[in-house]
Amino acid sequence: MDAIEKELDKLTNGGANLSKSIKDIDKCLEMLMDARTTIENDPTATVPTLQALESQLKTGFQLANDSLKGLHGGITKYGKALDKKFKHSTNENTFGALANRQPLINRAIQMHLLREGNFEIAETFAKEAGIIEGVPSVLDIEFRELFSIQESLRRKELKPAIEWAEKRRDLLESRATNLEFELHRLQYMILLFQGTPDDIPNALAYAKAQFGPFQKKYLTEISQLAGCVVWREKLSMSPYAALIQDESSWQSIIESFTTEFCALLRLSAESPLYVATTAGAIALPTFNKMATIMKAKKTEWTSQNELPVEVPLPDKFKYHSIFVCPVSKEQTTDSNPPMMIPCGHVLAKDTVQKLARGTGSRYKCPYCPADSLPKEAREIYL
Ligand SMILES: [Zn+2]
Repeated sequence: MDAIEKELDKLTNGGANLSKSIKDIDKCLEMLMDARTTIENDPTATVPTLQALESQLKTGFQLANDSLKGLHGGITKYGKALDKKFKHSTNENTFGALANRQPLINRAIQMHLLREGNFEIAETFAKEAGIIEGVPSVLDIEFRELFSIQESLRRKELKPAIEWAEKRRDLLESRATNLEFELHRLQYMILLFQGTPDDIPNALAYAKAQFGPFQKKYLTEISQLAGCVVWREKLSMSPYAALIQDESSWQSIIESFTTEFCALLRLSAESPLYVATTAGAIALPTFNKMATIMKAKKTEWTSQNELPVEVPLPDKFKYHSIFVCPVSKEQTTDSNPPMMIPCGHVLAKDTVQKLARGTGSRYKCPYCPADSLPKEAREIYL
């Protein structure tokens, strides 16, 4: 890993970067434009101007090339260091699930760029990748708003976020989130603790004006916020020490704002591309090992929607519960979903069909004496 870091350090801090080449090229462009203006203004100066331009441009290109060489060498060395460290990191057994889905991959990349606030890059990418049906422009606008509010929260300005939340109070309430109250609470604490004792009335006036709609739901919290005024000078020693706001309060308000903003757009808070790529990177060593074993044993992996091995992923990457049929021992899928039969036991759809011998006639539950018809089984959603 040291070798990789060394090469990366050279690339980032060694001065070998594109900005120098870009500057050199800009200078060349300037020379060309100057020459054009000179010739336009005085056509008799054409020959001497072009002669001078030739040698100037030659030097200019030389400079641009020299700085590019350094960068190119750096990137090659970095690539070699990566290859050396991660020798077997590429899986030869690609299963091709996404091979014919280039438009979907492009769309995911475009979406990811928008979510990261890289709007110009997203636009250029969409153009260069020839995306026809990309992310709807309405989402582009929404993400710009999300990004600008996130930026203001990073600057510790709450107003834009509060205004956004106020406009959507009903929607947020239907999601049972406390975002709007949390934003007001943070604003109140700032007013109370960041000013002088003379600012206390301002904080109290803010509380009076804003906490009204939340009184019913957050009475305890509001009482605590009012109570901590008397401990203003030594809050950390008070029963209200937990109310102290620090960097992590800002971090968590940015996170919950992002979650709610995305939820109202019916999107997940995390970029799916980020989650998929990270989960893939975690799973890759397991896949490689599996591929090696399968190759050695000359076996093939046939089940489409189920992995033959377990891939341990962090909890935050787990979105859905899975169900394994207790009879067939197969994991349920969209086409073979879990079914609850009248006695309350749950089996995979295929199992129910098999038990009824595909006829729709009565069958006995494998786990209790009850019998029922296949049509009485209800699909369940986990
Ligand atoms: Zn049963």
